[in-house]
Amino acid sequence: MALIVQKYGGTSVGSVERIQAVAQRVYNTVKAGNSLVVVVSAMGKTTDGLVKLANEISPNPNRREMDMLLSTGEQVTIALLTMALQELGQPAISMTGTQVGIVTEAEHSRARILHIETSRLTRHINAGKVVVVAGFQGTSSAGEMEITTLGRGGSDTSAVAIAAALRANFCEIYTDVPGILTTDPRLVAEAQLMDAITCDEMLELASLGAKVLHPRAVEIARNYGVPLVVRSSWTDAPGTWVTSAKPQGRSLINLEIARPVDAVEFDTNQAKVALLRVPDKPGVAARLFGEISRQKVDVDLIIQSVHEGNSNDIAFTVTTPILKRAEAVAAAIAPALRSQSNPKSNEAEVMVEHNIAKVSIAGAGMIGRPGVAAKMFTTLAEAGVNIQMISTSEVKVSCVVDAAQCDRAVNALCSAFEIEAGEQGVGGAGGAGGAGGAGEAGEAGEAGEAGKDKLILLTPSLCTPLSSPVRGVALDLNQARLAIRQLPDRPGMAAKLFGLLAQHNISVDMIIQSQRCRVIDGVPRRDIAFTVSQIDGENAKEMLIQVAAELGWGEVVLDSAIAKVSIVGAGMVGQPGVAAKMFEALAQHQINIQMIATSEIKISCVVAQEQGIKALQVIHAAFGLAGSEKFVVPA
Ligand code: ADP
Ligand code: ASP
Ligand code: MG
Repeated sequence: MALIVQKYGGTSVGSVERIQAVAQRVYNTVKAGNSLVVVVSAMGKTTDGLVKLANEISPNPNRREMDMLLSTGEQVTIALLTMALQELGQPAISMTGTQVGIVTEAEHSRARILHIETSRLTRHINAGKVVVVAGFQGTSSAGEMEITTLGRGGSDTSAVAIAAALRANFCEIYTDVPGILTTDPRLVAEAQLMDAITCDEMLELASLGAKVLHPRAVEIARNYGVPLVVRSSWTDAPGTWVTSAKPQGRSLINLEIARPVDAVEFDTNQAKVALLRVPDKPGVAARLFGEISRQKVDVDLIIQSVHEGNSNDIAFTVTTPILKRAEAVAAAIAPALRSQSNPKSNEAEVMVEHNIAKVSIAGAGMIGRPGVAAKMFTTLAEAGVNIQMISTSEVKVSCVVDAAQCDRAVNALCSAFEIEAGEQGVGGAGGAGGAGGAGEAGEAGEAGEAGKDKLILLTPSLCTPLSSPVRGVALDLNQARLAIRQLPDRPGMAAKLFGLLAQHNISVDMIIQSQRCRVIDGVPRRDIAFTVSQIDGENAKEMLIQVAAELGWGEVVLDSAIAKVSIVGAGMVGQPGVAAKMFEALAQHQINIQMIATSEIKISCVVAQEQGIKALQVIHAAFGLAGSEKFVVPA
């Protein structure tokens, strides 16, 4: 007999008939000898309807009152589903988040779960009842007990957290698609179903726009090793398993806010190649990385951002042994990128930096917590370390710094994030990828001995080797891009900027510093660009304009009409040519890339918003992810 947590999303409980169908499935599962907790969402588009009502009354409704309003949606479903179960003769009881004892932070509309009381749940389960719990809600423990919600899509998080707290055998997420597909089937009907995906990959996909799972649900599954499966509530098909390695024992107290950083990593075996002032037009990145991949050069980080005068800088890192080859390719291609009328211009200048190191913090707990990256930048600034390149993923922030400052940077980060060197997986033992970790394999494999024995602390590896380098493609149409021109290039620049954003609770996604440096008034300056949620765009801009004057920064530019398209796959590590294929697909369709950012297992490109869906479709096709069947998502 298993203890199972099942979660049913809005469409799955969208009508009386659907609720009855869910009750039947729950009943069958119990009759097969299992105990069940069922977490439900609000019916259909109820939550959207409630948000609309609120907006008709106030353009900026009070967050506490929003939680009071939105939490009612789930309360309707729990009562109706419980009645449906009782009609089938199945003992059942409904409970709100408060009644269960889902204790959260006192942060309305985006509360994180602190802990879950299990005694009431267990008592009812032991009495043979199915407990039907309202998803997406909890109660703050501080001060007066207030109803909180976890953020849109948060019922997945409620379900996985309950599964972790009850140490359930597994958690099933029932939804309107047959599982996790290579991309959103509403945008690409030929998307294919996956049998399994690693938590690391899913974490990236979910955060990059694949709303089939709430990223925080994946984070909890990963941290607590909750077996998780996404299935259709219309069929009995097996769905997609989200796999994770057995994690180390973790306390169930401060469930979602425990230590955000698990590891500090570094790699001194890196070199950087930058091409400055390349034309801002489709095909440039494709050409460069196409040639690089033909020369079998594997690149690690890639960044590109557009600058004043509409030219781009593209920079990438490679391991030192292949630097010469990479540099030769860049130098060979540079003349072709210069304007024909003025071939001697300073366009497409190649810049090589030998003595660099990549320093990273890693941990699933940093998702949606802007303060974590800011703390990394502050720590480096306080240690007098200047940041040359920043690369971010959902679970990792990497900074390229001067190799001579690497030890200082690592020591400062270990103490700031309370990471003891030697706490886990010290040194090359097991290697970053040695334990079968496709997600990290390139780092250990390519970095060679020098890099390998210097990786002091490694996150446990979670991935199994995978055949296709790209597993999924995601589109996020809800981002905006901010650029700040001419920030003084000295330690503390990123710390100041991202510290300010974190204070305003604004999460930053891609961050890109320009490679070119301009001396203005005797001060070397760089541009910096980053993406935030569209809803935060205007606020962030206003706030930054205010401080820009004071701090001597240049113009602040906001562009909300952007789309971010990303590919994710643990298998892309150590595989030359993946980035080139993505850029080539975009170039072939005349889609200009405005920004590029990569981490080990993802590549994201920012393109114009109106080209977002097309970009997603052509990239999906380019990687051969399209299947022969077409998906029709139920209405
Ligand atoms: P629920 O109400 O069940 O929580 P959601 O609407 O939150 O359902 O999530 C399911 C939707 O996620 C699907 O209908 C699909 O449009 C979308 N989606 C986006 N990316 C993916 C993907 N890679 N695989 C499956 N579904 C996806
Ligand atoms: N009903 C909430 C929403 O629509 C929570 C959820 O469905 O996961 O966002
Ligand atoms: Mg959902």
